[in-house]
Amino acid sequence: MLKKPVIGITAAHCTEELKTFPRHYYVESIRKMGGIPLIVPPVQTLEEATDVLNLVHGLLLTGGGDISPLYLKEVPHIGIGECFPERDFSEILLTQLALEKNLPLLGICRGIQVLAVAAGGRIYQDIPSQYPSSMQHSQTAPRQYAWHDVTISEESILYHLFNKTKIGVNSLHHQAVSEIPPEFIQCAFASDGIIEGIEKSNAKFCLGVQWHPESMMETEVHSQALLSGFVKACVD
Ligand code: MN
Repeated sequence: MLKKPVIGITAAHCTEELKTFPRHYYVESIRKMGGIPLIVPPVQTLEEATDVLNLVHGLLLTGGGDISPLYLKEVPHIGIGECFPERDFSEILLTQLALEKNLPLLGICRGIQVLAVAAGGRIYQDIPSQYPSSMQHSQTAPRQYAWHDVTISEESILYHLFNKTKIGVNSLHHQAVSEIPPEFIQCAFASDGIIEGIEKSNAKFCLGVQWHPESMMETEVHSQALLSGFVKACVD
């Protein structure tokens, strides 16, 4: 039997309540797909980041608040939401190290944005004001329901996992990738042109999706295929 892979799941930290946690869905989906979930609070140094990555076979970047304009090297846009620079520092550093190590990596929602920024791409700080022709990407239905379709690019990891060029996804974001990093391709996009998936072409498994597959696991087969594909890629 194959050894179960340990998967680091990045956690948000709430300073006011002194709580560090990821949403339950992330932990449960990794466990369900055969991985061992390991919650990773924000790291503070390069040494700590290196030590953490030596403990895991894969890294899951979770959803959350906005990335601080400081890390985007941009002025704050009028539509920017709540930021937590300590988490940005940690996740960008962990991602850069994971990319160097070719460690399997899945970025979900905020995670695709962290991945893009860490790898040298750019993001919209606020879609509605910076991309006015966009559809509504903040769904008003519960998160387990699909909200809009995405087109999947052929010859991508995603296509290989789904064997389909169109699927329905949920949508709970007001930021999105605006510029794909070097060595990455766009693997999913919405009908308004917003990028919904990026992946690194020559990596073992390095993928970011703008939707939340972990919240649709019970009802949606593609979400299961995506998370299962990630966990499988983390097996040594
Ligand atoms: Mn969307």
